[in-house]
Amino acid sequence: MRSLQSEIEQRGQHIFELVDKHPDSLFSKAGFYQRLMTLSMRDEQLKHQLFRFVDVLPSLRTSGEIIRHLQEYFAEAHDSQKVSEFLRAGVRLARVVPWISGPILRWNVSEMARQFIAGRNSNDVMRTLRKRRTQKIGFTVDLLGEAVVSETETDEYAARYLDLLEGLARETKEWTDPLGKNSELFPVVNLSVKISALYSQINPAEPADAIAHLAPKLRPLLRRARNVGAFINFDMESYAHKNITLELFKTVFTEEEFRDWPHAGIVTQAYLRDSEADLRDLIEWGRARGKRFAVRLVKGAYWDYETAKSRQNGWDCPVYLQKPESDANFETLTRLLLENEAIVTSAFGSHNVRSIAHAQAFAEELGIDRSRFEFQLLYGMAGPIKRALVDMGYRVREYCPVGELLPGMSYLVRRLLENTSNEGFLRAKFSENVPAAELLRDPREILHRSRNGVLPPSTPTINMTTTTPKTQAGAPYENAPLTNFALPENQEKMRAALREQRKLFGRKIPLTINGEKVWTDKLFSSVNPTQPDQIVGCAAEADIPEAERAVAAARAAFEKWRRTSFEERCQLLERAAQILERRRFELSALEVFEVGKPWTQADADIAEAIDFCTFYARLMRQLGRSRLTQNVPGEESYQHYWPRGVALVIAPWNFPMAILCGMVSAALVTGNTVIMKPSEQSVIIGAMLMEIYEEAGVPPGVLNFLNGKGSVIGAYMVDHKDVDLIAFTGSREVGLWIWESAGKTREGQRELKRVICEMGGKNAMIVDSDADLDEAIVDSIYSAFGFQGQKCSALSRLIVLEENYDRVMERLLGAAASVRVGNPEEPGIVVGPVIDEAAYRRILDYIDIGKREATLAFQAKNIPPQGYFIPPTIFTGVKPNMRIAREEIFGPVLSVIKVRDLDEAIEVANGTDYALTGGFFSRSPANIERVKAQLEAGNVYINRPCTGAIVGRHPFGGFKMSGGGSKAGGEDYLLNFLIPRVVTENVTRHGLAPEKTREYRDEFLWPPKR
Ligand SMILES: Cc1cc2nc3c(=O)[nH]c(=O)nc-3n(C[C@H](O)[C@H](O)[C@H](O)COP(=O)(O)OP(=O)(O)OC[C@H]3O[C@@H](n4cnc5c(N)ncnc54)[C@H](O)[C@@H]3O)c2cc1C
Repeated sequence: MRSLQSEIEQRGQHIFELVDKHPDSLFSKAGFYQRLMTLSMRDEQLKHQLFRFVDVLPSLRTSGEIIRHLQEYFAEAHDSQKVSEFLRAGVRLARVVPWISGPILRWNVSEMARQFIAGRNSNDVMRTLRKRRTQKIGFTVDLLGEAVVSETETDEYAARYLDLLEGLARETKEWTDPLGKNSELFPVVNLSVKISALYSQINPAEPADAIAHLAPKLRPLLRRARNVGAFINFDMESYAHKNITLELFKTVFTEEEFRDWPHAGIVTQAYLRDSEADLRDLIEWGRARGKRFAVRLVKGAYWDYETAKSRQNGWDCPVYLQKPESDANFETLTRLLLENEAIVTSAFGSHNVRSIAHAQAFAEELGIDRSRFEFQLLYGMAGPIKRALVDMGYRVREYCPVGELLPGMSYLVRRLLENTSNEGFLRAKFSENVPAAELLRDPREILHRSRNGVLPPSTPTINMTTTTPKTQAGAPYENAPLTNFALPENQEKMRAALREQRKLFGRKIPLTINGEKVWTDKLFSSVNPTQPDQIVGCAAEADIPEAERAVAAARAAFEKWRRTSFEERCQLLERAAQILERRRFELSALEVFEVGKPWTQADADIAEAIDFCTFYARLMRQLGRSRLTQNVPGEESYQHYWPRGVALVIAPWNFPMAILCGMVSAALVTGNTVIMKPSEQSVIIGAMLMEIYEEAGVPPGVLNFLNGKGSVIGAYMVDHKDVDLIAFTGSREVGLWIWESAGKTREGQRELKRVICEMGGKNAMIVDSDADLDEAIVDSIYSAFGFQGQKCSALSRLIVLEENYDRVMERLLGAAASVRVGNPEEPGIVVGPVIDEAAYRRILDYIDIGKREATLAFQAKNIPPQGYFIPPTIFTGVKPNMRIAREEIFGPVLSVIKVRDLDEAIEVANGTDYALTGGFFSRSPANIERVKAQLEAGNVYINRPCTGAIVGRHPFGGFKMSGGGSKAGGEDYLLNFLIPRVVTENVTRHGLAPEKTREYRDEFLWPPKR
């Protein structure tokens, strides 16, 4: 008996022989597509430009637009030696005769798309399907479309699926199974469904909500499929949707109505590390259900996305990082499927001859007939392999996407990426002619060699850290990872934390002055804005005497704290970061109750607080050492920093832990002593920071916690002669008052007061005429309505070019109507309550003003009757001089301003008192460069939301009336808290000078540390 490996090799060789009779035209050297592929494979940078151009092309309306983009994308490439004559000629031609080359380009790209898209609609696709029928190839049809952003769009999608199903059933009524054997397992009509197209508000943290919305949309389709004898397959999309897709599949097909229906299938992605566990679980489920079901095994189409996303968020990467690992796992899962053939019908979705040959050989070994499983391949790809498999007597089904070019763009770009991937089988076989023996090697053997150091790893190592980041100088800075709420264990931890926090409602919090707990005769209650009769906690309220005691304590503690080594101070911050991490869920849950933050945003707030601690500790290690200014013989000059003195930190409630912790930690690590005054609305969270620093070992008096009215104790301390520094984040009104008041020198004052002042914004996002609306709509909604619009970075003015105004508005209003408003204890809620009654009334007043000034285009309905809920609201017809376009509202209210062109858009965007954040959605490289240069904002975001700054990555802060120009979470932030000092010593004695002077020396501390 031959070994499995030699059986695979023999079968593989046979497939190759058949394939070589008809080489794949996709990889030949002629034509537009082939040239594009050749160029892409030659130059990685050019490939990105090419694919970006292909991506924007269908949305361009005129020849002039097409040519402008062509020139913008390839202006650099045009001068490059690398670029081929083909591209150079294209750009030249385009300049001379745009009216010819524009349509030619569009036609070429349409033709290219037609290679991968089987038809524009159900009628159109029939031509392809009939042709395949004569080749004995079956089909599964998939609907391409734009990303759905609203429930109107999902309804349209569901209707299109039904329509497609009806059409296919009608047209193929007389068709029979190509193999004529075991045909009951393989209905002719086979529809592939993407669940993300059926519910626009899927939140990975809330599977139950997703299933509750998806199941009713699916049932009519399933019923109809069953009636017409069709098969329904659930495609698998990104990892975030995986658990929901599996849960939905198991839930629906366990229902009485569908539990005995065998024609349901789902996809397993072998590139996922947890795919084997999921598949075993599915098989168990299938056995318990007692009816056959199907699994399409694939490697997975979102590898680049998953690796990038997990790196951005600091998550464990869910996919294998080396290609042979995915290949090997594909084979493991192939065996698992075939071994359970009694309950599960397998479809192997691959173009890789090794993967295919392995499935064939293993099935043969188990004695499974060829007609009991199938191979599935994509339309427009690997034609010769399909033909070979048919010739060998196997069952072959083609995956046929149906749709228009514009919505099909992301699919097309995925295919282009796949075909040009360095790792891909098709490129290796058909473009690079890698020998068959190499292509048929056992992936395990390749891995084994790789592990023994013979082969380098196929991908760069990805950081998989999930613990508190390192802060040591030299090591790259790592942000604290966000909690991945797609994982059920994290959902459970959060729910448990919410339950625990509820039990603590009503707790009482004292002031902390000089390490002592101080009670006063006044208690301030902090309530849950979702349900204002619930008291989250009560805090003692300070008055002038307590403020005076706190200033005195901080002043007294300063002398010792300033002489504490910076290393000790850095370690204090790092211990605080560890405690924050340990109490992460508890603190996030408290934010949900005290300020109404949705889960993910509460978690991001705690993550940011951790980042501030670790980032500032790291910065202080760089700044803390005394540094030689210049190397001159005979003289040493060292620059170093002293703390300023007593810092008053006044923080807002909207990032109740992060902003407070950021300002406090910066002041502490630089050697200042601190009086922290959190916002009254988030005082319990502020008290938690005090607890954390106490546990971390902050000495008495170095950090003091005062709760009280800003207008009373805040004002008193701002004017106090012993307060040297004020770090403030909050409203413009208070900020400007502090700025002015701190400018007056008081009797006995030692220092000129330093004010670090962050205020509001009236942030604008411009949507260009070529913007990708799938992204622009979702990100605008999130930026405007996320956390009820109560972020200083939130979007409040959407500036839309008139050219695509109607399309933007149609999708924007639909998307706004689909946003979930409600109790933020539910993880999928996007819009919760605003912070308190005063905010509630003020925002409603602004809505009234908007109704008088402009047109109310949208206002959400079904708002919870209790709590401070404001319906997300959109005004159109807004002019730049209207109050709703100029004044900060700090609530879920969006003004849409229509403009003629980009000139006007920039003028409007810059025409406010503020300059905090700003955004631009565009696919024009030249327009993007222009906006990068001209938009007046401290943080400019291109093609992404304008909120969500990350410490170290996006140093945050604005100018004009948005702030004093300091950047929290940036390299130079700590300098605001420090006084620079230089010590110069003449070290020459009788003309004798040391030859070398050290670049750094120890701190100037007296008495020196031993
Ligand atoms: C009929 C059909 C239906 C499909 N349906 C789905 C679906 O529902 N969901 C879905 O996600 N995909 C789906 N795919 C796409 C599939 O997942 C693969 O992307 C594609 O088929 C390429 O895999 P291959 O075996 O053909 O080629 P190969 O060239 O052998 O494999 C390429 C694949 O290897 C993996 N890979 C690449 N680089 C690395 C690396 N460095 N480390 C680890 N792994 C790596 C990736 O998954 C990549 O797509 C489907 C494919 C087919 C043919």
